[in-house]
Amino acid sequence: MAEVLVYVDHVDGAVRKPTLELLTLARRIGEPVAVALGSGAENTAAALAEHGAVKVLTADAPEFAEYLVVPKVDALQAAYEAVSPAAVLVPSSAEGKEIAARLAVRIGSGIITDAVDLEAGDEGPVATQSAFAASFTTKSRITKGTPVITVKPNSAAVEAAPAAGTVEALSVSFSEKATGTKVVSRTPRESTGRPELTEAAIVVSGGRGVNGAENFAIIEALADSLGAAVGASRAAVDAGWYPHTNQVGQTGKSVSPQLYIASGISGAIQHRAGMQTSKTIVAINKDAEAPIFDLVDYGVVGDLFEVVPQLTEEVKTRKG
Ligand SMILES: Cc1cc2nc3c(=O)[nH]c(=O)nc-3n(C[C@H](O)[C@H](O)[C@H](O)COP(=O)(O)OP(=O)(O)OC[C@H]3O[C@@H](n4cnc5c(N)ncnc54)[C@H](O)[C@@H]3O)c2cc1C
Repeated sequence: MAEVLVYVDHVDGAVRKPTLELLTLARRIGEPVAVALGSGAENTAAALAEHGAVKVLTADAPEFAEYLVVPKVDALQAAYEAVSPAAVLVPSSAEGKEIAARLAVRIGSGIITDAVDLEAGDEGPVATQSAFAASFTTKSRITKGTPVITVKPNSAAVEAAPAAGTVEALSVSFSEKATGTKVVSRTPRESTGRPELTEAAIVVSGGRGVNGAENFAIIEALADSLGAAVGASRAAVDAGWYPHTNQVGQTGKSVSPQLYIASGISGAIQHRAGMQTSKTIVAINKDAEAPIFDLVDYGVVGDLFEVVPQLTEEVKTRKG
């Protein structure tokens, strides 16, 4: 069976969920061979094997941390040359897309970015993309070279499928360009203790109706009662009430949690584009005509300042 390279997104060996989703998709088109780079790369092997990686190619070198993406592209290209895969899959983060695009240029291949599904086809993998704020769904196939495809988080269910996960050291020689852009400082984002937005099973979002940065405390309180991540509409983010990193939508993050609770969000198409694949959608809005209600499984017509705190209390009570 053809091998499929899967680029691993991990933090010191802890594999991030979008990579495990990629392994599910990779198994549809071949045998996943994972490529894990940087500090803790070898520690990814157990999780990758558990989810179907037949091999885990690892490399660590100071260049991966000290310079921007080019050393990683060099390593992924080395893996590509060692394996001659049927496809290369990369998580659709900003960094992932840059790595994938650079690799595609180097190996003369076509690229598809932001796929939301992937299936095997007679002439190569067929990727589904969601276009124009999810008003169209397109299916595409790469016709030149080895398909390089980046896949959005939450595009597939994580499935255990134990495989050998044999660890092999990947030999990488860095190109001249690898050290062209040096990282001069790093400031870790303050941890909120909440799950990562794109990976969370529950997301509680606030919009313009929240009416001020200080009022986001009630959205956070509901999120914390549910163990959820906090999202925000662009209107709330542009007003400076919540960080840009939490924006959900076409120009923000795509989320697909089990439960999405939208408070004070009207449901503009650009917001929907980032959350409409959520499994259960709940909206709280004081306007019964708000378009978000066209989308919801459960809707509450009411003032969020009354409804959200009551909901939080009820969740806490039921949790005991
Ligand atoms: C190119 C482009 C890209 C965009 N990308 C994004 C994106 O990624 N994400 C995104 O979110 N938007 C995006 N937008 C903006 C989008 O069009 C909307 O303007 C935005 O989503 C509106 O945010 P909102 O729903 O919070 O605000 P509004 O549309 O103003 O809605 C606020 C809602 O809150 C309700 N409300 C007010 N007070 C209360 C209360 N006390 N209790 C309950 N309900 C209340 C109101 O009834 C209203 O429905 C984009 C726009 C463009 C043009």
